[in-house]
Amino acid sequence: MIYPKSIATLIEHFQKFPSVGPKSAQRMAFYLLRMPMNEVEKFAQSMIDAKANTKTCEVCFNLSASSPCEICSSHQRDRSIICIVAETKDLIAIEKTNEFKGLYHVLQGLISPMDGIGADDIRIKELLTRLTNEEVKEVILALSPSVEGEATSLYLSKLIKPFGIKISRIAFGLPVGADLEYADEITIAKAIEGRREL
Ligand SMILES: [Zn+2]
Repeated sequence: MIYPKSIATLIEHFQKFPSVGPKSAQRMAFYLLRMPMNEVEKFAQSMIDAKANTKTCEVCFNLSASSPCEICSSHQRDRSIICIVAETKDLIAIEKTNEFKGLYHVLQGLISPMDGIGADDIRIKELLTRLTNEEVKEVILALSPSVEGEATSLYLSKLIKPFGIKISRIAFGLPVGADLEYADEITIAKAIEGRREL
């Protein structure tokens, strides 16, 4: 089917989103075409605003409106414990449980040789700098129980061991192969509670 160029371009853009195939992209494009013009304008502006007003925290690499982020600058948080996550969305999932009062470190990915992502491509160097300069007593690895999550956890635990810091990993309650962001709050809270030392 041949669409006018502007519609074809719109469909192409939607198709770049994660887990959106050609059919869904088409549906989204047609939905947008039926929306009132002012709604479309608001939608477009919200995308620009989100992109323009989001910073990466220089300490933990969380996405935030400010740098350092709210968590890193808070005096209510326990600075002796750092929870390591792959992405900001995992941090949000853990924050929603209200169970964790420490700080975070967002790796911005996982080691994945299949995708050409090595240890130097994610924020591991920066984590080691924090462990050297800050008074950290415990590190919690909150990485998904996927092949990449396992590989990254193993790699990190070897690097962190020499610091003499307690290392634990969340495990219980999380189904194997499941993404942290899709787990419900109780499951994640249980997983943190049941973390085991590495
Ligand atoms: Zn931060």
